[in-house]
Amino acid sequence: MRRKLVIGNWKMNGSRAANTALLSGIVAGLNDFGADCAVCVPAPYLAQAQAGLTGTVVAWGAQDVSVHASGAYTGEVSAAMLQDFGATYVLCGHSERRAYHQESSELVAQKAVAALAAGLTPVVCFGETLAQREAGQTEEVICAQLQAVLDVIADEDVSKLVLAYEPVWAIGTGKTATPQIAQDAHLFLRTCVAKKHAVAAAGVQILYGGSMKPENAKELMAQPDIDGGLIGGAALKAVDFLGIIQAV
Ligand code: PEP
Repeated sequence: MRRKLVIGNWKMNGSRAANTALLSGIVAGLNDFGADCAVCVPAPYLAQAQAGLTGTVVAWGAQDVSVHASGAYTGEVSAAMLQDFGATYVLCGHSERRAYHQESSELVAQKAVAALAAGLTPVVCFGETLAQREAGQTEEVICAQLQAVLDVIADEDVSKLVLAYEPVWAIGTGKTATPQIAQDAHLFLRTCVAKKHAVAAAGVQILYGGSMKPENAKELMAQPDIDGGLIGGAALKAVDFLGIIQAV
């Protein structure tokens, strides 16, 4: 039985004051909900997340990681640094990184490798654009993105990945994928993993991301291959984030 997991992606939002209110609102509103929960914060706020969440059931993580271990890579943040601040998760290959920073699937795969080497859980994001969906290329696109990761991850590490299906047309647009569209993509991704890693495929958590809100979370989470959510906008308000967690 796979546990449900809900991760908030704060993107480039927050301030020390706003984060304090958000973190304490989340912690205060959580009870024994039977799912895992985390927030992925901007790197400068990792220490704040660590201070505010240590000893709670909420884990924390980052939104990107360098493929390099250390050295002359100005502006980069290594997996070991994230680990130093107690991070559990790191997003790899969010569509905004792929679109605005030209991250290729091969680079994303190397980021997942770097994260795993430091003991972090990479949350590897996949998704098609609207044009690709309309051209009937969804499966081809997400399969290629996934395969780039499977090609470089050691067999024994496949079960340590978290996958996130995030159709680009649904991110931040208010256009949520229907539960059936999301379920079809999740099942497809799981089947792709299963071709080489049957046991890991059955256990790997696949999150849905794209305009998930308290109102639509329950139906999405009820799908057999949707194991939780990666939440952007709705993760910035404690009441909405908690509403999604409660829908689990
Ligand atoms: C995201 O950024 O990962 C995301 C899912 O955003 P939103 O929930 O705002 O669509």
